[in-house]
Amino acid sequence: MYTALYRKYRSKTFDEIMGQDSIVKILKNQVKNGNISHAYLFSGTRGTGKTSCAKILARAINCLNENEGNPCNTCKSCEGILDGSLMDVVEMDAASNNGVDDIRELKEKVVYPPTSLKYKVYIIDEVHMLSKGAFNALLKILEEPPKHLVFILATTEPERIPTTILSRCQRFNFRRISRDTIIENLKKISQEEGKKCDEKIFKLIASKSDGAMRDALSLLDQVLAFGDDVSFEMALDILGMASEEELLKLAGAILQSDMTSAFNLLKQILYSGKDVITVFKDLIQVLRDILVYKSEGSEENLIYSYKKEDLDSFSSFGKEDILRAMTVLSEKSQDAKFSFDPRVVLELAIIEIISFEDVKKSLAKTETKTRGKEEKDEIFNKNQADILEPKTLEEQEPSQNELKEESEKEVESKKEEKISTTFEFDFKDFVEELDDTILKSLMGHIKSSDFSNNMINFYVENEFNLDMLKSSEKSLAQSLEVYMKRPIEFRISVRTPAKEEARAKLEELFGKEKLDIQ
Ligand SMILES: [Zn+2]
Repeated sequence: MYTALYRKYRSKTFDEIMGQDSIVKILKNQVKNGNISHAYLFSGTRGTGKTSCAKILARAINCLNENEGNPCNTCKSCEGILDGSLMDVVEMDAASNNGVDDIRELKEKVVYPPTSLKYKVYIIDEVHMLSKGAFNALLKILEEPPKHLVFILATTEPERIPTTILSRCQRFNFRRISRDTIIENLKKISQEEGKKCDEKIFKLIASKSDGAMRDALSLLDQVLAFGDDVSFEMALDILGMASEEELLKLAGAILQSDMTSAFNLLKQILYSGKDVITVFKDLIQVLRDILVYKSEGSEENLIYSYKKEDLDSFSSFGKEDILRAMTVLSEKSQDAKFSFDPRVVLELAIIEIISFEDVKKSLAKTETKTRGKEEKDEIFNKNQADILEPKTLEEQEPSQNELKEESEKEVESKKEEKISTTFEFDFKDFVEELDDTILKSLMGHIKSSDFSNNMINFYVENEFNLDMLKSSEKSLAQSLEVYMKRPIEFRISVRTPAKEEARAKLEELFGKEKLDIQ
């Protein structure tokens, strides 16, 4: 039967654990000195070695020939634990044993000393899944733990664990594993498996696995399953990723504000079967590479491999523009995950990036255009002043009487005018009628609108979109005036608070260190 690579190559000693050097050092010292804690909490992202470390620790503290803190894996204690024949080491998954009863049962069992080992060890995986009652029962045990008892709790969500439990645990936070460490391991394993692999494939897998060794090995499994000599192009296909050349072209088109090319390239990439969320992530990584290359002038720290001349073609773009594009993409990629049509979200993101520069240009243009139309300007400027001066809430919401008065006045004075001056505003129709294509695309950020108190309210989702629209307030005012055939007040505001800082998302994607580019 085929064994998955991550099982086959699971670390069996502390020295084999990768990318968690300080944790390993402390644990080895504790084993050597017999200075064992009653409760450990291993926290951190999935695939970073928590469970492997817990299993090694369970053997190390019971090993009869412990070597520098490592278990020997051959003595009868180690063997018994490895083959699961000794009942003194128990592995539980809190996701399936989250009832109070299981822990209560545990409470009765733990008082008895181990039958064949020095320590009774309970490894509880995904411990945050325990119910409140189960946590209470666990706390009771941890308050007065018998000498022979060791708990190793593992979790991806330590914030969901009660502080009363946390305070009784020795806590270790497992970091995401570095790309280099993952690449090194992938190389080693491929060699041991007798498979030939393009070096670029390891880079690709490492960047896709996001610091999780287990994910990296699963991806390697998929690639190696295709034969003994897998080409880079094949790997791209297997892993469903767009090749960096295509991505680099797309990034170039976006940064050059070439909407047509950008959409054609995107269509091509998606047509070849890449999934949208992957394209989001890949595109951000390519932009990140461009930024790193601009800053460092070398290809050493790049995620993907490119032709040097392709990279050099980006020399004219500003770092700020690249960073802004990354910010928009990472922000939108979060939206895309929850969208029923992620592709539209990706397209909107591209429009947003491209529009930003164009908006500046178009604003300059509109300003020159309006000069000379003085009559209109007078009304327009008055209206603009209203918009630009922020109002207090009370000012915005006139009393019922005022409202009535005002509306009567309005109806009175506008009677002779066309229907569009009544209290109706059809947002969809307005957008359809827009000639200004940039403004039209910006309107895509407006999630809803309403028309009350003779004022139009536009709502956007976050501060970033608000800024984008604010920058084109003037052309919006003009277009509204043309559409409504009179100056009209409007307000743009954020309805749902921006979720996370875009930077936090970037950090999550790349790790803090990678993002700290000067
Ligand atoms: Zn042993």
